[in-house]
Amino acid sequence: MKKTFLLFFLIFPLLFTLVEPKSGRSVQLHNIRFYAYPDYTRVVLDLSSSMKVQEKILPGQNLTRLYFDLLNCDFSRLYPEANKKEILIKSGNLKKIRLGERSKKNLRIVFDFDKIGKYDKFYLTSPFRVVFDIFQDDINHFDKSVASSTDRVESVPEQIDGQYSIVRQLGLGVKRIVIDPGHGGKDPGTFNRSMKLYEKTITLDLARRLKSVFDKHSSYEIILTRERDQYISLEERTAIANSKKSDLFVSIHVNSAPRKNTRGIETFYLNLTTDSWSMSVAAQENAISKKSIGEMKSIVEQIVKNAKRSESRILSQFIQKHVVKQLKSKYSKISSLGVKKAPFYVLVGARMPASLVETSFLSNAQEAKRLKTSYYRYLIANGLYYGIISYIKSLGKN
Ligand SMILES: [Zn+2]
Repeated sequence: MKKTFLLFFLIFPLLFTLVEPKSGRSVQLHNIRFYAYPDYTRVVLDLSSSMKVQEKILPGQNLTRLYFDLLNCDFSRLYPEANKKEILIKSGNLKKIRLGERSKKNLRIVFDFDKIGKYDKFYLTSPFRVVFDIFQDDINHFDKSVASSTDRVESVPEQIDGQYSIVRQLGLGVKRIVIDPGHGGKDPGTFNRSMKLYEKTITLDLARRLKSVFDKHSSYEIILTRERDQYISLEERTAIANSKKSDLFVSIHVNSAPRKNTRGIETFYLNLTTDSWSMSVAAQENAISKKSIGEMKSIVEQIVKNAKRSESRILSQFIQKHVVKQLKSKYSKISSLGVKKAPFYVLVGARMPASLVETSFLSNAQEAKRLKTSYYRYLIANGLYYGIISYIKSLGKN
């Protein structure tokens, strides 16, 4: 380490995050995951139980280092790199991670970056995770567009549901869209055993179809979070959208319900909810129990305050309307369950308007049979396309 860096480290530490366990018991650090890109990195700490986190930001210039102490915490036997003192990353903005047992019961973890601008931190539960989003610039892409467009306020487009969002007022455009085919690899999602249909297969097919419609009829850049049957964590999916400076994020899913006659299409955006059904859908997609969703209320409150709620709701409304419209044009008994809010992990931390669409129910015999056909999927992909395009047009810039 260069001497100047060391001096900086001692005098102006960027961020001191004190992590204390709730009770006296020792917490295990299972893993440190990172998704590093040129100007954005997401770091995820997997811990054995919840911790109360206190944080301090100290002033300074040329910030490159993020470090925190985990009190009463030890490496889990599951953590493969526990014996290493230093992990060289050299990927994107993240240079290396250093691990040190500061004292017998406490762990210090240091992240060295090229540069740290803005950062965010939030928690996910079941299992407990601490997620850091570190941006190289002081402001991220989406906020930057807003900040640089303050002289264009006069062209306020049509008011939607009695609310103008800042994005809408400034008429910001869309160039890049990230489409997320839900699940994949070891995570099949929901399935219909008798029809041998897996959610992960349908979502990938729908995403591919959607991309090809966009490629054929528009000039938007479409990026899929996965191109094949591959496992990607929920945290990584949004990280991909953030790293690509995507303007929109749409996660595609297939629903299931204990009652076999439940059917229809519903679209979600990230927010708190007390609705029992919405909570159960989110629990299912988050791979946690419904009880855990209720317990994470205070955590989610912190998460959603930064979400692009108003735009996400409008995007969801357009998607819901057009998927239903497309299917209704050719099929009977198409039911719209509406636009709803719920705490979906995959939408957490997205820096752009984001929606999650449950395209139909695999647990319903007729919808499963339809989902198996190429034509039904074609109509869903068309509906998603028209929904997204209508949203973009409503911004008045494209
Ligand atoms: Zn799903």
